[in-house]
Amino acid sequence: MTHAFKMLIGGNLEEGAAQFDVLNPATEEVVGRAPDATREDLNRAVASARAAFPGWAATSIEERRRVLKSMAEVLGANAHSLKQLLTSEQGKPSPDAETEILGAAYWIEAVSALDIPVTVHEDTAERYSETRRVPVGVVCAIVPWNFPVFIAIVKLAPALLAGNTVVLKPSPFTPLSTLRFGELVASLLPPGVLNIISGGDALGPMMTAHPDFDKISFTGSSATGKRVMESASSTLKRITLELGGNDAAIVLPDVDVEAVAQQLFWAAFANNGQVCMATKRMYIHRDIYEPLRDALVAYAKTVKVGNGAEQGTQLGPINNAAQYQCVLDLIKDAKDQGYTFLLGGESLEEPGYFVPITLIDNPPESSRIVQEEQFGPVLPLIKFDDVDDVIERVNASSYGLGGSVWSGDEDRAYAIAQRIETGTVWINEAIYIAPSLPFAGHKDSGIGVEGGLEGLLEYTITQNITRKRSA
Ligand code: NAD
Repeated sequence: MTHAFKMLIGGNLEEGAAQFDVLNPATEEVVGRAPDATREDLNRAVASARAAFPGWAATSIEERRRVLKSMAEVLGANAHSLKQLLTSEQGKPSPDAETEILGAAYWIEAVSALDIPVTVHEDTAERYSETRRVPVGVVCAIVPWNFPVFIAIVKLAPALLAGNTVVLKPSPFTPLSTLRFGELVASLLPPGVLNIISGGDALGPMMTAHPDFDKISFTGSSATGKRVMESASSTLKRITLELGGNDAAIVLPDVDVEAVAQQLFWAAFANNGQVCMATKRMYIHRDIYEPLRDALVAYAKTVKVGNGAEQGTQLGPINNAAQYQCVLDLIKDAKDQGYTFLLGGESLEEPGYFVPITLIDNPPESSRIVQEEQFGPVLPLIKFDDVDDVIERVNASSYGLGGSVWSGDEDRAYAIAQRIETGTVWINEAIYIAPSLPFAGHKDSGIGVEGGLEGLLEYTITQNITRKRSA
């Protein structure tokens, strides 16, 4: 714990007047201390982003591409030390942390290859008219703790490519790898173009209420997203909200049970269930319910839960005490209601926020574990008979992030996918994303798009220029 983590404000690296502890969720020991930004720090970060904006917006897209590519190189070159830091503050196993860092570097590369289109509407003897895209201005980027580096990059890369300047805030639970990233890339960017500040619970609301941001790009829970939207309204900031989910998997009776069991397990338990688009309720057709249930239990028993820094660990702890309590509370409710636990449900005495892999056998549709976003390693398996009925149950959720359909008959699955009210539906897989794909939540799962050209254009506003041609 020797490194003094620093914020990036106006091109300077700053320790801040005060710091707060960041814990390793596997041990509950302090991993490092992060600067606790004051209102004055925030004001300086926003002011430096504002001052840097005209110059950065005026650079060519080729120049911005070049800077982004150099950021990707730095991420890749430092993947080893960053993955260790990420595991120690987030809890995820080391190979997953490496995938996150390298995935982030890949994402920057892919985004930097995008072009911002100009649309010509009219080019006649009387008139020329076009729509071009200009940057929004100063962007406030707020990130959760489940994929701290990757989600930061998903915001930074398009925001910077489009010519915006940014003030980024990581979650108080996982600020260190993001701060370290800021230290590594500070010299690659003109001062003020990218600012990274960390702080406690008060900092997020302070940012969304700040009058000098033009846009907020927020990823987090739906409850917080609603507060962000309310706060943004006072100065009519543009918003992109990527929020919670309660994704359903619908498993039809024609699947090869042994072949899909493992894939279905990871659809739900990747990153210990702490994925917005993880399967959070699994509807299994009655005809295959018992064999698939048994195959899931058998596979789950082979999965190693432990400290992410230890070799062989496949699932780490829950990231933080508050989320740990939420998951324990859902487990307690399921126990109190008398639901059957196929696996897990017991409490662990060891230090760290560990929850054993927990599978619950056919709880009622109205149960909390089916209706709420658990965001942890607990999965309800639910029996269904009728496809129309299951689609109705899946769509009854206020969430609309993603979902999946599993079948040996792709056309049949496709017909079902078209009836699911979510931003993404996967067939015979889940959690697949790509830089070219727009990702958007329906209903309470969000507003706007991240990823792909559409995601890039969210960091721009349209400007029409029409030219009346002289006779
Ligand atoms: P959270 O909403 O508690 O916090 C997210 C971020 O917002 C953190 O940086 C936090 O400090 C900040 N914040 C908290 N209150 C704020 C406020 N009032 N104003 C402004 N900022 C505030 O979410 P979390 O617990 O960090 O993350 C888990 C949630 O994020 C889950 O619901 C998950 O589904 C969702 N998520 C969604 C996506 C997506 O792309 N849709 C991706 C990852 C996570």
